[in-house]
Amino acid sequence: MSAGHAASPPPDDLPPTRLERILRSHAVRSGYVSLLIQLVALVILALVTVEGPPRARRLALVLDSGAGRDDRPDDGDDGGGAVGGAMEIGPNQAPDEAVATDDAVAVPLPEPDPIVPRADPLGEAVAATGGPVVQPIAHKPGHPATATGGSADAGDAFAARRGRGRGQDPGAAARGRGASTASEAAVERGLAWLARHQAADGAWHFDLAGCRCDGACRDPGTLGSTTASTGLALLPFLGAGHTHRDGPYQETVSRGIYYLLSRERATPRGSDLCEGTMYGQGVATLALAEALGMTGDELLVRPVRGAIRFIETAQDLHGGGWRYLPGQAGDITVTAWQLVALKSSQLAGQEAPSPTIDGIRRFLDSVQTQQGAAYGYRTPAAKPSTSAIGLLCRLYTGWQPTDERLRRGLDQLVRAAPDGDAVYTNFYLSQALLQADHPAWPRWNTRHRDQLVARQGRAGHEAGSWSFPDPETAPGGRLAHTALALLTLEVYYRLLPIYGSEAVASGF
Ligand SMILES: [Zn+2]
Repeated sequence: MSAGHAASPPPDDLPPTRLERILRSHAVRSGYVSLLIQLVALVILALVTVEGPPRARRLALVLDSGAGRDDRPDDGDDGGGAVGGAMEIGPNQAPDEAVATDDAVAVPLPEPDPIVPRADPLGEAVAATGGPVVQPIAHKPGHPATATGGSADAGDAFAARRGRGRGQDPGAAARGRGASTASEAAVERGLAWLARHQAADGAWHFDLAGCRCDGACRDPGTLGSTTASTGLALLPFLGAGHTHRDGPYQETVSRGIYYLLSRERATPRGSDLCEGTMYGQGVATLALAEALGMTGDELLVRPVRGAIRFIETAQDLHGGGWRYLPGQAGDITVTAWQLVALKSSQLAGQEAPSPTIDGIRRFLDSVQTQQGAAYGYRTPAAKPSTSAIGLLCRLYTGWQPTDERLRRGLDQLVRAAPDGDAVYTNFYLSQALLQADHPAWPRWNTRHRDQLVARQGRAGHEAGSWSFPDPETAPGGRLAHTALALLTLEVYYRLLPIYGSEAVASGF
């Protein structure tokens, strides 16, 4: 199967015009209807004043227009977005007071909180599915965002994914940073697999439900959060430069984004995209922020701001991290997702308050060992995956790539050859090595990259996907593994080569 075949675009029957996409927005649509009602009132008033009694025919036309718009198939909940995706998802809904867990609940809950923990068997592996996706760090602090959308700088920060990263000569620049022709072809096959496994409503599901797979692919996942699965599946498209604005996957990405927006739940504490776990909040926010940063689409500004506010208010004020539930004492994987979502939002022009970032540094201090060269999950009991995450988080919160602690930590992690099964560790480690410009990166990357390409599914419905015997990510199943593998193979153009500047050191 050639890359060209695998990358063949999804059906693009009549991509929506910009007007159509605006009209599909809940907020705009409800405002539009409101405007129509006011216009009708004005018309009636004018007719009564000027022409006497209004003519029914004209009125009917106006009303029909409004009603027709209102009857369009809904993307999900009503315009308020408050009707709850979250409540419908997890089979194991807990009572409201479940937010009070074993950990300190530091966030006041002004209303009954329908966020419920998923009592799936994952334990920490829930969060293990997620991990930070490296954002290009080229945004100089102090550059103000525009009032309505991503700043020009934000657009530049994401440019490596477009023209410079792939563009006219797909992969040329990427190959210069460590990709290969084969890995680029693998990316195209993987994106095609993801597109084939999108559900009709725009979502992706860890258990591969709702699409045409119908059991044809083995190793489905078990996690229930559709904001997490949809956000995770969107990221590789965005990472390769495909947005809801253009490109062969425009429709795919657009439907995914609108699905996420349909799951948004307005709360006094911000926009809840959790569906039972802050992991879902982090990854969905990241996907929306990426889309905003890449396109400057003003329709995404409000959702991103609301989602970021939810992240901020859900932080454990004492320990500085995040876990499954708002206010819960943190673990390093869920915390990393929130950090990267905040970072991406910053690049998209939406600044995070510094106390939130200070809290993350405090959390990292609490789980580090070896003076910061290694990290644990919720305690300093370190293992390779959590150490890789911790070191990457340190890069995002101010440590220089030349920092001795960072070097020492990465040296330890690359001492052994890449473990081809450890998709989760490798996902983080590849980002940290490249971001830190570690001397072992070229050799480590070559081996790991070729391992990944060789392990991609080649036959039947599974062609283009990945599955690994990795217990940390098993609950995410083939969907999560494919997304993580793709993001790893996209590391070459998700990153700008600019690193180590003052802008990086003071990233927040
Ligand atoms: Zn399938």
